[in-house]
Parts: sequence; C-alpha cells; structure tokens
Amino acid sequence: MSSNDGIQIPSRLPLLLTDEGVLLPGSTMRISVDTPRNMQLVKSRLLKGTSLKSTIIGVIPNTKDPEHDNQELPSLHSIGTAGLAVQVVGSNWPKPHYTLLITGLCRFRVAQMLKERPFVVAEVEQLDKLEQYTEGQELDGELGELAQRFYQDAVQLVGMLDMSVPVVAKLRRLLDSLPRETLPDVLASMIRTSNKEKLQVLDAVDLEERFKRALPLLTRQIEGLKLLQKTRKPRPDDDKRVLVVRKGGVFPGHQFSLDEEGEDEDGDDMAVLDKKVKEAGMPEHALRVCLKELKRLKKMPQSMPEYALTRSYVELMVELPWNKSTTDCLDIRAARVLLDNDHYAMEKLKKRVLEYLAVRQLKSALKGPILCFVGPPGVGKTSVGRSIARTLGREFHRIALGGVCDQSDIRGHRRTYVGSMPGRIINGLKTVGVNNPVFLLDEVDKLGKSLQGDPAAALLEVLDPEQNHSFTDHYLNVSFDLSQVLFIATANTTATIPPALLDRMEVLQVPGYTQEEKVEIAHRHLIPHQLEQHGLTPQQLQIPHHTTLDIITKYTREAGVRSLERKIGAICRAVAVKVAEGHKSPKVEQPSAQQGAVDGERKVDESLRESEMAAPPEMPIVIDPMALKDILGPPLFEMEVSERLTLPGVAIGLAWTPLGGEIMFVEASRMEGEGQLTLTGQLGDVMKESAHLAISWLRSNAKKYQLTNLTGGPDPLEGTDIHLHFPAGAVTKDGPSAGVTIVTCLASLFSGRLVRSDVAMTGEITLRGLVLPVGGIKDKVLAAHRAGLRRVILPKRNEKDLEEIPAPVRAELDFVAASSLSDVLNAAFDGGFPITTNPLPHPHVTSKL
Ligand code: ADP
Repeated sequence: MSSNDGIQIPSRLPLLLTDEGVLLPGSTMRISVDTPRNMQLVKSRLLKGTSLKSTIIGVIPNTKDPEHDNQELPSLHSIGTAGLAVQVVGSNWPKPHYTLLITGLCRFRVAQMLKERPFVVAEVEQLDKLEQYTEGQELDGELGELAQRFYQDAVQLVGMLDMSVPVVAKLRRLLDSLPRETLPDVLASMIRTSNKEKLQVLDAVDLEERFKRALPLLTRQIEGLKLLQKTRKPRPDDDKRVLVVRKGGVFPGHQFSLDEEGEDEDGDDMAVLDKKVKEAGMPEHALRVCLKELKRLKKMPQSMPEYALTRSYVELMVELPWNKSTTDCLDIRAARVLLDNDHYAMEKLKKRVLEYLAVRQLKSALKGPILCFVGPPGVGKTSVGRSIARTLGREFHRIALGGVCDQSDIRGHRRTYVGSMPGRIINGLKTVGVNNPVFLLDEVDKLGKSLQGDPAAALLEVLDPEQNHSFTDHYLNVSFDLSQVLFIATANTTATIPPALLDRMEVLQVPGYTQEEKVEIAHRHLIPHQLEQHGLTPQQLQIPHHTTLDIITKYTREAGVRSLERKIGAICRAVAVKVAEGHKSPKVEQPSAQQGAVDGERKVDESLRESEMAAPPEMPIVIDPMALKDILGPPLFEMEVSERLTLPGVAIGLAWTPLGGEIMFVEASRMEGEGQLTLTGQLGDVMKESAHLAISWLRSNAKKYQLTNLTGGPDPLEGTDIHLHFPAGAVTKDGPSAGVTIVTCLASLFSGRLVRSDVAMTGEITLRGLVLPVGGIKDKVLAAHRAGLRRVILPKRNEKDLEEIPAPVRAELDFVAASSLSDVLNAAFDGGFPITTNPLPHPHVTSKL
C-alpha cells in the first residue's frame, strides 16, 4: 500500500451515501451512483478535481431507505470509510448514472455536518492511521495473539482453495505481505458476510474489537467450505466454482469474493444468463451469435460502457419469443358472434374479416395480402383489429407509425453507440412475448420520409411474406422469423400510402356512421363502457335516445364516434360528482334518527338502516336537454345551412376528406370589371380547372338559360369580374367533384335566383355539360344527411353506390341522378331551370330508393 504513504485525509470530506454495501479499508468496491446528491458529488468533485486529494471521498453506508436522498437527509451512520476513487465511468443507459471504483483507505468519524446540498460535506476525524500500516509494526500481547490466530485461519481458508488457480496463489502471497492489522477489514470484505456484519466490523474502531468481530465470520466461512466440500462429490471444476474472482481492479487480491455457495453474485448472474441463453430456444444462427456475445461479456469488466450494451443485447436475445407462440383457437361461428358483439353495423367489413379468418382456418400458413382498414378516425378500425386478435386467441400489439420518418424506427439502430435500440417490430415481439401476435400497423398513411432512409421500404420487408421469415433488425443483427405474425394496417386515406406498400395490402374501406348507427353504437357500446370506466351504473345515470341524438347533432360533427365517446365521458364525469356528493347526504341526516335508540337491539336495527340508506337505491340521473346544456355548454353546431343560402350565388357541394364526408359551401359574387375570374380558398389545379370549365359551359349556354351580366347583357362575363370562393379558406381543396356545385352556384349568380337550401350536390363536369361519376358517395351522402339536407344530386353513374347507404338514411333523402348539367340545374332550383311556368316534379327524382 505504498501509494497511500503518508496520506492524511482531508478534514473536510464530501460524503457519498451508498446502500450498495459497506466499504472497508483496504478493499475495493464498485458503487453505482444515481441519486441527485451523489451524482452532484461525482460531477463537481471527481470529474472536475485535479489533485489527488480531490479524489478522496467519504463513503457512508446508507442503512436507511435510499429514496430519502431526494428530500430529507437520513440520519447518517457516524462512521464511514475514506476512499480513493480510482475509476469513474458514466453512462446514460438505462438512466444516467456513474459507476465508481473506490478503494477504502481508512475509517473516519463524522464530526460535524457542514452542508447538505448540492451534496453532503462534513468535518471528519480520521480514525485509522494510514502510515502505521506501511511500517509493518509487530503487534504484541493479547492483540498479537489474536492477530496470529486470525492470520492462521485466513491461511487455512486460502489453503482450502485450489492453489493451481493463479489468483489463489496470489492471494496466499498477499496474506503474508499484508500487515496484520489490515486483515480483519480485508478478509471481512472478501468472505461472505452480510452488510450488517460488515457494518459491525466497520464500527469496531478499536483494533482488538475488530479482530474479535471478524474472527467468527472467518471461522464460519471455513466451516461452510468444509461442509460444502464434504457434501459435494469432488468434481474436476469444483474449485473453480468455489472461487470466483472479480476482474479489473487496482488492488489485486483485495477484490476476491467468496461465499458459501462458492459463487459470487456476478458469477451467479452470468451462470443464470448462460442458462437462459441455452433455454431461449434460439435457432442455430442466433444462438451462435448470442453465445459469442455472452463470452465477450464474461470477460468484460462491468465498468466498461460496453458491458451494459452487450448485456442488454444478450438479455434482449434471451427475451425474444424465438419459439414461443400461442395456439390459434379459431372457430368461425364464435368469431362471428364476437365481432357482432363488439361492433355494431360495419357489416361489409365484418363479412370480409370473417372470410379472411375462414381462409386462415382452412389453410393455416396463409400468405395472403395484408388487410388494411381505411377510414376516418374513430370508426372502429383499431377495435376490429383487437377483436381479430381475440377471436384467434392471439396477443395484440399496436405499432403507431404516424410521423415515423426514420427507417431505424422499424428496423432498429446498429449496435454501435450507446442508446442504440431495436426497432418497433422486435420491441413489439419482446413486449408480447410470443412470435405469432396480431400487429396493428396504425396510420400507415402517415409515414414520413427523411434523410435517415425510408421507413416504408423497411415496412415492405416486414410485410412481404417472401422475405419476412428472415427479417433482420439492425440492432439484433440476426434474422428473426416474422412469418407467423398477423399484420393488419390502418389508414385514414389510401392517397398517401406509399404505392409499393399499398400494393401488398387489401384495402377495406370503413366508412363513417349514420346518425342512427351512432345512436345504436352509443347505447350498445359507448355508454355502458363509459359508465363502467367512471364507476357508475345504469341505475345512476340514464341517457335517453333523443339526448344521444342531440349530442351527435349539436355537439359533434365527425364520421366516427370518438368525440361522441368523449362527450359521453364528460357527462359521466359530471354525474359521478353528483353521485359522489349524493352518497354523503343520507349519512348526515342519520344522527337524529339514531338519537332515540336505547337498547342494543334497536341500535343494530338502526345501523342496518343506516347502511341501507347509504347504499344507492336513488333515482337515476336522467340527462335531458337542460342537463345536457348544463354539462356540455351551448351547442357547438347549430344548423346554419339555410341562413347561408339567402343570396344568389351560393350552393352546397359535398366533399370527401380523410376524416369523412363534409358539406362545402361555394360562394360567388360579381362586380364590374374585365371578365376576370378570381378563385380563393386554397384550391388545387383540378379545382381551378373545374371553375374555368363551369364558366365556359355557362357562357356557351347563357342564352338557353337566360343568364345575363351585370348590365343585363347576354354574355355573363362581359364587363364583369367574378370571384369564386370556397370557405374554410385555410384548408386545401382539390378534386373534380365540385364541378356541378360551381356551375350551380354561378348559374344562381347569373340568374339572380336562389338555390334550394336543402340541396347538396357532387359530380364532375365536362365541357359539353355531361356529369361524370365521382368517389366517396357514401361518406358524402352521410355528410349531407348529418347536415340536415334533404336532396342530394349525384352523377347517374354513381347510382349504384346508393346501395351502400343504410336504408333509414336513404328513406330520408331525395336522390337526383343527373347525367347532364341541365338535370343538375333543374333539381337545384325550385321550379326548374330555366324557370318553367308550371313547375313539375323533376322526372329524375328517384326519391325513396
Ligand atoms: P379508429 O382506430 O378507427 O380510429 P377506434 O377503433 O379507436 O377507431 O374506435 C374508437 C372508439 O369507438 C372505440 O372505443 C371503439 O370501441 C368505438 N367504436 C367504433 N366503432 C364501433 C362500432 N361499430 N361498434 C362499437 N364500438 C365502436
């Protein structure tokens, strides 16, 4: 210990509180540091300090709850060990911490606390003399005898180990060279002792006392070893198991650690890991890699940052479900019942899902296309995915892809830097713990792209049945078989799904719901679910059907049912407060009822009644329109349609958006000018062209339809500027389907007549005045219905799409199938267009289909 020559420890020491064990002088210990105070100490003393003195710190065993370090300083143990920090390793994984290698120098006593923050500093009194050891004084008298006995026992202990192991031989030599006074500390930290016993040795300031306390521990270890050697048949590698050596240290020989089992924590740990690796059921190629990493790990000192990396790699490999799977328990009839029970309506989707499942049942290894549910938010795409997993008896895991723009999100980071991780696929497998889960790839239409590579390309590999049996995650670097995983994707629109990806998927449209469907869904699923979530029962809260309809029409405007569910949740919360308050009131009245109770029997009777009264056979709270207004505030959406159609030059179109159908107003106005057309409202090129088409068609037919310009002339554009605006100006709009609406709007403007306020329309136009079919009819019609409109004008060739529309909605709407623009105009204006003296119902009205 010549390095400690003459060291007088500083009288002010920063204190490190550790609950990881007891550091004794002359031994070396690895301490992991992660509490705020200790971290501060490391940062400002060990990492900044330059002198040797600044690397000396006091280590105080923290016998109390370590959590205390955050707030109150626990009452400190009064004796600690001054130690030299010989190594500091920082890591951010799994959370910021330092690992210190500290060699104990000498005992000290805390004389006075100087400060507690940012770390503890105390005035200390040195207890052991450091110089004394180096002089190697002989101990004499009783103490000498005690020391001699201790030495002999120590020699005996070492003698029981296999001398052919080099490190044992070294230990033997060390025993002779070490001053006797240091033996109790050194051996107490080597042999298996509890922290409490070590603490007793630490507290023994008097050397004789220290020998006395350490001796029984040493004897116990010897007895333990003897017993072990007796019971165990000698095996060739027995001795190796008896002594496990910690590697990497400054004071070799001070870091041996033995215990009765003959294995220390570390070795134990490695053996466990080793066993796990062998039991993980990895395929040959993975096992080879894993064993190699494990071998490296065993050789690595724990303080190396790579240790944590390699270790977490091996642990991940072990945890992956290489050969763990659930057995499919598919019964199509049960699946149908389950799907029906979980979801109201969505018949088409349920039918296709059942077909898909049936084929799976017949042909177990299905390499079919991946189902992709496309529809507005809140229409139950995720929830159907979950039901599929349930019908199959498989685990379910959702992978949100929205905003993912880095392919390593899917495929993992290479294991080259701290913080590298496996991708979401492998992570998901680890989470579910089986290799045949249902993975829901949520929002595939919202994948981004960036410099870090294209995540869609990585997904392609995942989804391709030809490739995914050997999917290689960059982090894992060995292939994993994904062919058993059932992938389902969801998206709001197919427009932004990368084409190559779309190609691999079978798109199932999930359209929005009608109001009636929403009411049913609310009463069958959402309300019971929300009641349960809020701890309410139907006896406490009732929402009548007409209230639900009010919520749907006046407080939400969506294709799905998500905000409907939220509104119901809000009602439940409000009612929960009332119910909770209501519980108390009967109890408050109770004392007066009890006053008259005299004899025991009556008291029992009373208390029975009390409990009955506290229980809630109360009147249910019924949500009527008043209550609704109270809870949700004034209605968010009142019908404003008719108010907006009070001037010529306004018409209602129908638009399709990824969030469902919407009604869209088109407004036009004219003023003196030179025949210019201004378009506003963030229109795309297609929409602008539609506007030009519409104007050209109207000009060429101006005479027939009696259209005039500002001065009454026959060319609507002469001396006139036209401004066409699509409100909701911030939303980009494009597509050809507004053609008929623009024509109608302009026809209204040029003729000075009002468009019927209950008509909405959609359809593409040609220069010759034909009406061409468009997409998204169901969503558009539902939007018109939601908005309370009565008549929908749509292209004749879209008539077939009306079958998809639920009968109750169809019954409430008039559909006009238009093949030419004159059909459209005739249906859009009261009395036809141009006005006939004797207005007849239009022949094309296919009302009540
Ligand atoms: P998406 O994935 O389409 O955005 P979710 O699956 O998250 O929508 O559905 C939102 C909520 O609406 C869930 O609580 C779901 O159970 C419920 N829901 C949607 N459609 C139905 C339906 N047809 N029947 C019952 N509940 C439904």
